[in-house]
Amino acid sequence: MPIVIDTGPEFRLQLLRAGVLDLQHVLYTHLHADHCHGFDDLRGLYFNNKKPLKCYLDSEYVSELKHRFHYAFEDTGYKGGRPDIELVKLPEGGGVFKIQDCEIETIRLQHGNVLVNGFRFGSFAYVTDFKNFTEEQISSWRGKIDVMISSGLRWSSHGTHSSTVETIAIFKELGVKRGILTHLSHDIDYQRDMARMPNGVELAYDGMTITL
Ligand SMILES: [Zn+2]
Ligand SMILES: [Zn+2]
Repeated sequence: MPIVIDTGPEFRLQLLRAGVLDLQHVLYTHLHADHCHGFDDLRGLYFNNKKPLKCYLDSEYVSELKHRFHYAFEDTGYKGGRPDIELVKLPEGGGVFKIQDCEIETIRLQHGNVLVNGFRFGSFAYVTDFKNFTEEQISSWRGKIDVMISSGLRWSSHGTHSSTVETIAIFKELGVKRGILTHLSHDIDYQRDMARMPNGVELAYDGMTITL
């Protein structure tokens, strides 16, 4: 059962590259354009396999997603057909939910003037676009995570994102065994900066596969 986190602007190309043709579950961290503007590609997926999709997102983002992609949810009078997409609200303020047998914990983190949802699947976590973790979030996840993918935008500090250095410090505080930095800006150079990574931390790249 594939689960996708976020649908970026190149989502169709990413699905084709990964050979994912059968997808029914999408988790959204937040609705910045780089995380959701590939939403329209879910329509093509639905028209191809006719399987209903569930998109999980925070309740505060439901009306915003419906507003941006209104033609996917309401009758516009155009006989193009709408996809069968159900918007499922994530637990209010964070918490545990299930997709079939897969138990997922979500936490909410500050990202400038918005909140993002971070996700933990057992000992694997995917948390992007946060400025920092609170002390309570650090202590509740400490020692629980073996592999974690997180944003590490750039070396210098940023107003709404944690920097490379700040995310590496969070990996350390959480006791993460393998930390993978993603959401990297043009300031990061893969060859040069991989050599600067401490033990147990690496840079993600397009098409990367990890086994859990
Ligand atoms: Zn963002
Ligand atoms: Zn982003």
